[in-house]
Amino acid sequence: MNYICSRCGEKNDTATLKAGCECGGLWKLDYKPPKFDLDKVDQREWSLFRYRAFMPPEGEVWRDITLGEGMTPVTRFNDDILLKMDYEMPTLSFKDRGAAVLIFHCKTIGGSISCRIQAVTRETASPPTPPERASPARYSSPRVPRRKRSR
Ligand SMILES: [Zn+2]
Repeated sequence: MNYICSRCGEKNDTATLKAGCECGGLWKLDYKPPKFDLDKVDQREWSLFRYRAFMPPEGEVWRDITLGEGMTPVTRFNDDILLKMDYEMPTLSFKDRGAAVLIFHCKTIGGSISCRIQAVTRETASPPTPPERASPARYSSPRVPRRKRSR
């Protein structure tokens, strides 16, 4: 599997420790997940890794790192709005999904996680000139109206 530079199109193996292309471009993963098929979902696993057939990293190392990310409940707020209770993630954040898959990838390409992180940090200590980027989209959480109390 490869990364493709978003700027110059250079390909690089996903086992690289380079945080980005030498031209300053960002890596895009050259991966197309298989078409969703319920039979490929591991019904015995109660975490996001039940969907691992649709994830780029392969192997079983996810078993060493998962804390049960995903599978948070959905609660009805009203007739039109359902709320996903992601504060029930291991670290109380929706970011646990991405972090778990990132560490899955790190362990898949080998070495200890701390060694990989240190290597990446060293490589990015003097990063190449970053490409011009659009200003990041501002995130604002939607205002959720308070429920009227029924008495
Ligand atoms: Zn490049």
